[in-house]
Amino acid sequence: MKNFNPADNIQDLQYFGEFGGVNPSISDSSTYTFLSAKTMFDTFEGNADGCYLYSRHSSPSNLYLGQALAAMEGTETANVTASGMGAITTALLQLCHSGDHIVSSRTIYGGTYAFMKNFLPRLGITTTFVDSTKLEVVEAAITSNTKVLFCETVSNPLLEVADIPALSKIAKKHNLQLIVDNSFSPLSVSPAKLGADVVIHSLTKFINGSSDTVGGVACGTQKFIDALRNVNDGAAMLLGPTMDSLRAASIMKNLRTLHIRIKQHSHNALYLAQRFEKDGLKTVYPGLASHPSHELYKTMINPEYGFGGMMTVDVGSIDKANDLMELMQHRNLGYLAVSLGFYKTLFSAPGTSTSSEIPLEEQKAMGLTDGLIRFSVGLDNDIERTYRMMKDCMVELGILTNKLTNAL
Ligand SMILES: *Cc1c(COP(=O)(O)O)cnc(C)c1O
Repeated sequence: MKNFNPADNIQDLQYFGEFGGVNPSISDSSTYTFLSAKTMFDTFEGNADGCYLYSRHSSPSNLYLGQALAAMEGTETANVTASGMGAITTALLQLCHSGDHIVSSRTIYGGTYAFMKNFLPRLGITTTFVDSTKLEVVEAAITSNTKVLFCETVSNPLLEVADIPALSKIAKKHNLQLIVDNSFSPLSVSPAKLGADVVIHSLTKFINGSSDTVGGVACGTQKFIDALRNVNDGAAMLLGPTMDSLRAASIMKNLRTLHIRIKQHSHNALYLAQRFEKDGLKTVYPGLASHPSHELYKTMINPEYGFGGMMTVDVGSIDKANDLMELMQHRNLGYLAVSLGFYKTLFSAPGTSTSSEIPLEEQKAMGLTDGLIRFSVGLDNDIERTYRMMKDCMVELGILTNKLTNAL
């Protein structure tokens, strides 16, 4: 762990373009010629490394991006997909067959929750949702049919932290695959180094960072990624959530600055979280000592990248939350939008947006209150200025009183 630095691993990779370009050439082809018919046959059989067949299977640009993301996560290899959901659904379908069972954290991305709860039962695959911060509850939910343990490193939207080393121990004991969605914490946490078998990202978020595309990746062993891409029974190959090569090349270029961006996102989010907490707002951020998993998270992170860019603030009611978000947008402090990882701060009320797939009673049970605002804190140059302007909005709406807070 000590010598593992995800950003250095990305930087150590070197690719050149066809004419010595400093960026790799973009593969602009769906199909590839073979000099010999035998090589074509071997490629179909998966026995000809380095040969391309058809771009739904793989393409040079997608392989470059996959290699860089595998280097970042410290896995043998990776498969990029057209979206984060394309990575999650194909990984689950590759590992689970009819009759199988999944144990999943209950605080996960709404789309993942809906897929497990509403879609997989059609295929005879069932899921038990648990509070994954309670390890004994996780273990008690495992049956003889369980194949997968699923969680998010930092959960959406409640920012609960998964104890990945402990979950990995449980997974190994029961012969399960531990899948960790690391979309909220790239670079900060390296789940494979902590024992995860498969690490998933929605590239749409911090990794691409420009809110101009959706994309995803599954990082894992060569054996698992080969299985995903197998022409006979690979979920990624047969269901077809293939990323376009031009997009892969574009995401790869954005990946080059991820370490700089994550440090700034973390710096800004910590600043706002500390100030808002001091102002008396119910603030959740893994970098705050008040966060229930703060100490655990400290043992899991690669410290130079900080505690990430996501935080939540509870302003008491959905009406106040909506008024505040509209006013902050009006003052150009960010956008009222779902998603995360943009240069601009994005805010939304998860109960009525990204987690609306989760029934109200279940939202309540997991502590998702309707005054909760999720912030993806942007790359603001002067975060103190942003804080003052946000506080002005809160004072105007009666969420905070106009007491001056002492400097920390
Ligand atoms: C956005 C998101 C996804 C889904 O990714 P898409 O790229 O939108 O398909 C999955 N997990 C988490 C944690 C996310 O934030």
